[in-house]
Amino acid sequence: MEPGRADAAYGAADFAGVEIESSNDFAAVPDAFQRLWTPHRLVYIENGQQPQKHECPFCIAPSMTDEKALIVARGEHCYVLLNLFPYNSGHLLVCPYRHVATYDEATAEEVAEMASLTQTAMRVLTAVSNCDGFNIGMNQGRIAGAGIAEHLHQHIVPRWALDSNFFPIIAGTKAIPKLLGEVRADVAAGWPASTQREAPSASS
Ligand SMILES: [Zn+2]
Repeated sequence: MEPGRADAAYGAADFAGVEIESSNDFAAVPDAFQRLWTPHRLVYIENGQQPQKHECPFCIAPSMTDEKALIVARGEHCYVLLNLFPYNSGHLLVCPYRHVATYDEATAEEVAEMASLTQTAMRVLTAVSNCDGFNIGMNQGRIAGAGIAEHLHQHIVPRWALDSNFFPIIAGTKAIPKLLGEVRADVAAGWPASTQREAPSASS
């Protein structure tokens, strides 16, 4: 896939050799849900980072390359990566490297760097995506909505004035217009080099 190429630019040649199966050949039970196919999640599947795995994905990610783990910046105590299930394009997560569950378990150094990385993330997202606002916050514990409750992470969700439409309200579906790999490249390129650390050299 060529970086920066718009979805609409893909043509039949890109799918040469892909077998198209007719839905009429499959047994099915209709339900009330519409299906919105989300190719950006293939990045997640191909990287083997399914949340049902026993290994914690936020502990594994830093050992991988930035591209594979969708990491945009590495600090001393914390790092920043794209959420694999974004509410919006550019939905970032700030995590400590340590496997701690809740904010009160983080050290003063981790708390301080989560805050500074969050500030930098806001500036970078504003610069590269021209967003109008943010939702920032942490869900503490599964009961409070944390998808991966075992490893602390702060959400940074960029918002645009016109980003809410009827989809999430009536259909429980969110349309994400940009592929994760492209968003990662844009945000990483906009991140100040002085705060970046080296990714591991192994192509894991
Ligand atoms: Zn962890």
